[in-house]
Amino acid sequence: MSSASLPDAVDVVVVGAGLAGLRAARTVARAGRSVIVCEVGDGVGGRVRTDVVDGFLVDRGFQILNTSYPALRSEIDLDALDLRRFVPGAAVRDTDGRLHRLADPRRVPSWAPRTAADRLLGAGAKARIAALSLRSLVVPPARQARAPERTTAEELAHWGLGGTPTEAFLRPFLAGVLGDRDLETSSRVFSLFWRSFARGDLTLPSRGIGAVPAQLAARLPAGTVLTDTPVERVAPGLVETPRGRVRAGAVIVATEGTDAAALLPGRLPTPRTFALTTHVHVADEPPTRQALLHLDGAGGPVVNTMVLTAAAPSYSPDHRHLVASTVLGPDPLPESELRRELARLWGTPVGAWDELATVRVPRALPATTPPTPEGLRRPVDLGDGLFVAGDHRDTPSVQGALVSGRRTAQEALRRLGSGVASAS
Ligand SMILES: Cc1cc2nc3c(=O)[nH]c(=O)nc-3n(C[C@H](O)[C@H](O)[C@H](O)COP(=O)(O)OP(=O)(O)OC[C@H]3O[C@@H](n4cnc5c(N)ncnc54)[C@H](O)[C@@H]3O)c2cc1C
Repeated sequence: MSSASLPDAVDVVVVGAGLAGLRAARTVARAGRSVIVCEVGDGVGGRVRTDVVDGFLVDRGFQILNTSYPALRSEIDLDALDLRRFVPGAAVRDTDGRLHRLADPRRVPSWAPRTAADRLLGAGAKARIAALSLRSLVVPPARQARAPERTTAEELAHWGLGGTPTEAFLRPFLAGVLGDRDLETSSRVFSLFWRSFARGDLTLPSRGIGAVPAQLAARLPAGTVLTDTPVERVAPGLVETPRGRVRAGAVIVATEGTDAAALLPGRLPTPRTFALTTHVHVADEPPTRQALLHLDGAGGPVVNTMVLTAAAPSYSPDHRHLVASTVLGPDPLPESELRRELARLWGTPVGAWDELATVRVPRALPATTPPTPEGLRRPVDLGDGLFVAGDHRDTPSVQGALVSGRRTAQEALRRLGSGVASAS
């Protein structure tokens, strides 16, 4: 990262140093073309950043790194991230206050008898969830992304999983993942997410989720990323910042979708987005020592809560424990209501927990409601040497952002190679 002076001209300017922008820049640099990344923030990562608050690692919202994402596996040295794993399952607090611990029997065989005996979901529902997982594993992802689509809620009902399985388990789980309590998200997107959960480990890097973009940035030529450099205007062949203008053969706008639409007026629609708010508390005594996502099966405002330090003790500077809890929407829950909900979900008093941080991300995830394009890929070449990348072009995920960055850079390189776009 640097705040070095701007060059007069480069082959490609990338706007935004989130995962999509960093991945795009890497593709361009590897092709031997000159590239800079202008980033408004003081560091890389965009929505995938980690702050240090009173010595604790606080991710910008509760995020999970799924090791099955193909783009992650091809781009990131996962071993270097020192990944800490969650149990592939969930604990659900039901409407009667009972806690049900469920795990994927294929991956946690020791939990299989307990999961089989648990009464939250009937045997039929468990069999149908297993069949859904099997389908998501055997059908190639490209076919899933082209399948006839409906909403996720309709898809679950189609699989006979409406009613209790959805309300008690699938809705709180998926709402936390998609930001979408109504489950209006396309079944194509749901199906790919379900595949990633069935295949991958759910993890956190020991140094925080921000270690992922940090690794990508470290592989770029020195001086590529210019932080504290907001792009104010984008035009064909030109980018303007308060620090000066840069001419470019191609400009890749790799911001979140709403910001991209503002930078490229008339060329992109403003997407609908979902908001997520994460409350982070510090507890002397953890409510559990299991690295297990806890869900509210009673439909309350906290969709999930998790002792992060049970998976990643390195998130704490001392013996204390970090609890992250997700609320849908841009507004924090009032602290008194939040504590009431957390006490109910954890089944233990939480009055002694210290409030550490509240992370609000008003535009956390782009909505991917039907109709989506076949293959889930939206166009990225806007003409005149202008390109767009980001999760809003593919799927709302780390995978979608990385794939989109590479795809867009490849299209930009093709244009540069054909001489259609040129910095000179
Ligand atoms: C709370 C939360 C939880 C999530 N959980 C998960 C999860 O568990 N698993 C998963 O796969 N995904 C998750 N996601 C989604 C994932 O983080 C995003 O899909 C992905 O990070 C998007 O990356 P991006 O590069 O497309 O956009 P961004 O990360 O938004 O990057 C855009 C960059 O552009 C910069 N920028 C904007 N405007 C300008 C400008 N004018 N000039 C210069 N720079 C500009 C921004 O500062 C930012 O750095 C979660 C997201 C949130 C918010």
